[in-house]
Amino acid sequence: MNPTKTRQRVSDALNEISRLMELQGENPFKSRSYANGARIVEQLEEPLETLIEEGRLGDVKGIGEALEQKITELVTTGKLEFLENLRAQFPPTLFDLFKVSGLGAKRIKQFYDELGIDSLDKLKAACEDNSLAKLKGVSGKLEAKILEGIAFAEQHAGQYLFDAAENAALPLLEYMRGCKDVIRAELAGSLRRKKEVVKDIDIVTSSKKPAAVMDYFVAYPEAERVSSHGETKSSLILKNGISADLRVVTDAQFPFALAHFTGSKEHNVVMRQLAKERGLKLNEYGLHGADGKETPCKDEADLYGALELEFIPPELREDHGEFDLDPIPELIEARDMRGVIHCHTTYSDGHNTLREMVEAAKAQGYEYILITDHSQTAAYAGGLKPEKIIQQQEEIAKLNKEIKGITILSGIESDILSDGSLDYEDDVLKSFDLVVASVHNKLDMDEDEATKRVLKAIENPYCDIIGHPTGRLLLARPGFPLHWDQIFDACEANRVAIEINANPKRLDLDWRQVLRSKEAGITFSIGPDAHRVETIDHIRYGIGIARKGGLEKEDVIGTYTLEELMAWRKSR
Ligand SMILES: [Zn+2]
Ligand SMILES: [Zn+2]
Repeated sequence: MNPTKTRQRVSDALNEISRLMELQGENPFKSRSYANGARIVEQLEEPLETLIEEGRLGDVKGIGEALEQKITELVTTGKLEFLENLRAQFPPTLFDLFKVSGLGAKRIKQFYDELGIDSLDKLKAACEDNSLAKLKGVSGKLEAKILEGIAFAEQHAGQYLFDAAENAALPLLEYMRGCKDVIRAELAGSLRRKKEVVKDIDIVTSSKKPAAVMDYFVAYPEAERVSSHGETKSSLILKNGISADLRVVTDAQFPFALAHFTGSKEHNVVMRQLAKERGLKLNEYGLHGADGKETPCKDEADLYGALELEFIPPELREDHGEFDLDPIPELIEARDMRGVIHCHTTYSDGHNTLREMVEAAKAQGYEYILITDHSQTAAYAGGLKPEKIIQQQEEIAKLNKEIKGITILSGIESDILSDGSLDYEDDVLKSFDLVVASVHNKLDMDEDEATKRVLKAIENPYCDIIGHPTGRLLLARPGFPLHWDQIFDACEANRVAIEINANPKRLDLDWRQVLRSKEAGITFSIGPDAHRVETIDHIRYGIGIARKGGLEKEDVIGTYTLEELMAWRKSR
């Protein structure tokens, strides 16, 4: 396992222990020490494996003997008995209650102890028959919130964040390409369409020996178990719980199968209709005339060509207007990006220093980087007081002289306060090259209030980019509602760019809104919101969303040269 994965696995386990201890009614200090341990592990510089091997894990600040022993057991054996014993004390469906946003362990324990609620279904029933409301401290407002949370959790059950799914899928795709009987192998499904969340992994392969390919697939060493083993389709459950389906067809069928299993279903309906209008029949095996004669296609471009269409990139295949695009836009690519816009350093809550972030961006070929630490109101994230800003700007000036080949820009991620104002006086705001303005608190405003708040920020002459515009956390928290037409009009009128936050937990602005706002003539910024050097690379997830939204290079400020970027800023 690679060090990042190990770190993640250990931190997940420690967080789970902390929760389970809370459910048990353990001393809160004890349960908190595990949650703290999880945070410490996430921030470790060195691989856990190295620390354990060299006997230095216990030297890490905050890792006591109990933590050291458990982490060592988990890393060296892949298992942790302590956690398994804790888990065994509760029905597994109880943990689904944690998916309801706003419900913590304390409440869950209360519901479980007093009403025996151990599943989402039982929780829902208790809301509906009013038994929940009779418990101590449960208000009508809380009950309504819980019902909302259950609906959200149900709607998203069985879905995975894009990065989690892709991280599981790419090694499997590589593995399949290593099979000597495989001719072609590609990812299909929502993963290929770069959907923000996905349900499962689909891979399409071609071969002359389908049975051999299936045998090879079900022997995948990273599989938890085989859920079906057929002649042309098999399924695995991978270690993170996601299921992976493999299909094998002949090489002549491959383009048709790939297009079919890439979807979306809605896109395929239109494709079949277009075929029908030409007297043809399209399915996953081919394109046939009424006389049964086949139209051979060597790839998907041929297939679209046979229907007199330009090739439609997978990201656009959602039946969201792609058939009306003429021409199909030349979608933005990762290599078009010249700058890293929106990242954090140790000045606020980032993990790496300013210098480290700059060196990493430079090593990846970027020409400039905009440093945007948190602003003063975000005290929980080490937001910068004005003195700190001066200090950072001095360091930026110094590093700009010292480090060649990349330009460091001074920025800030300013909180948008409840009344819509930014978080500093104008004389501080004007000292930045660019300002990202984001909402981080009071996320429960209604549509009118939230719109008023964001509009005021957009109208602030120092605001250049609106960061993560809805505050959503995928699969965890819906974003706040906005009157989009007003927001887009204001962005256009004030020439403020709107961010596609590329953190895979956010991917906010949603691609459906990107499509709409592109029509409104808006400029975008793809922000990795990197808090450590490794996550500068999150830009690629933002590119996926930008492509789904039909964006081209010119639509995104990070593709500008530094001169163009500064000219854009000045022209505003
Ligand atoms: Zn933010
Ligand atoms: Zn940020």
